Amino acid sequence: MIDADPVAGRNYPKTWVQFQDWFASEDACASYLEKLRWPGGFCCPACGVRDAPVRASRRRLVCRSCTHQCSVTAGTIFDKTRTPLRVWFAAAWQITSQKHGVSALGLQRVLGLSSYQTAWAMLHRFRRAMVRLQREKLAGTVEVDEAYLPLSRGPGVKVKRVSSKAHNNSHLVVIAVAVEVHDPKGFGRIRIHRVQGPTIDALIPFVRENVMPGATIRTDGSAIYGPLKHDGFGHEPFVQLGTDIPAHVSLPGVHRVISLLKRWLLGTHQGAVDPKHVDYYLDEFAFRFNRRSSRSRGMLFYRLLQQSAATTPATYANIRDNDHPSRAEPRITHLVELNG
Ligand SMILES: [Zn+2]
Repeated sequence: MIDADPVAGRNYPKTWVQFQDWFASEDACASYLEKLRWPGGFCCPACGVRDAPVRASRRRLVCRSCTHQCSVTAGTIFDKTRTPLRVWFAAAWQITSQKHGVSALGLQRVLGLSSYQTAWAMLHRFRRAMVRLQREKLAGTVEVDEAYLPLSRGPGVKVKRVSSKAHNNSHLVVIAVAVEVHDPKGFGRIRIHRVQGPTIDALIPFVRENVMPGATIRTDGSAIYGPLKHDGFGHEPFVQLGTDIPAHVSLPGVHRVISLLKRWLLGTHQGAVDPKHVDYYLDEFAFRFNRRSSRSRGMLFYRLLQQSAATTPATYANIRDNDHPSRAEPRITHLVELNG
């Protein structure tokens, strides 16, 4: 079922009607997940032997070699949740079938979930699956800039460039943005991370971590980016000759991405993003942006479930306390190359 080039109607549902048809029972969802998780056939998580398991009651899988018992959800983001797989799958469809995704409140309503927390935690578990460590770095010509994201728990996200004066009464988060730019026009992939501050110590490692050496980095005239030229990067600082040149002229990619991010936080999430959890929203935004040209929404559903089956579990406390992978142990157990 796993394909280098998954096909609508064969590897993933084409439409909502087909989705309901394919995933009408817990068994159907479990068997789909099993194929995503072990595309080469069941592989025992305890001893590593690849052999068809004994199928015991309650969908337990028993290794013929070491008798270890597991389930298709154990060790994935679906581990030990009381939410049925059918609901998880429907949530994944909602998240991926709408261009801008869905808020926790929206998800709670559309799935008829009894609590907001359940919807909120499901979305955060899926966001964890959207992070891919060791992703291919950006290459070619890459614009890099930093910006302040003033966030508050209530409505009212405002995004400003670092050079602007900070907004009062909100929690300021500094983000670093990198955008591949194509000639003569158009943008490629992006990376957005929260960083400690608009400093050399934060931004130079951000570039090293996310951009291939040899790439040409376009930045503003700030001295922060000076060390890049000693790091194997080409550096094209844009020195503003007059104050009348607006940011979208000097760094159009970064400007565009920040304005889309702002619109997304204000629109889909009504600006209600807890600063503590902002990393996950940035991950989701980058996941969506980097797959904006995906041939179909169904393909995104397929990729999201594939990554979910390869991402280790998080408890409600993990999510609430925000142990984001960028600051903790890697959460992805194995990587699959995703080109969708
Ligand atoms: Zn085994």
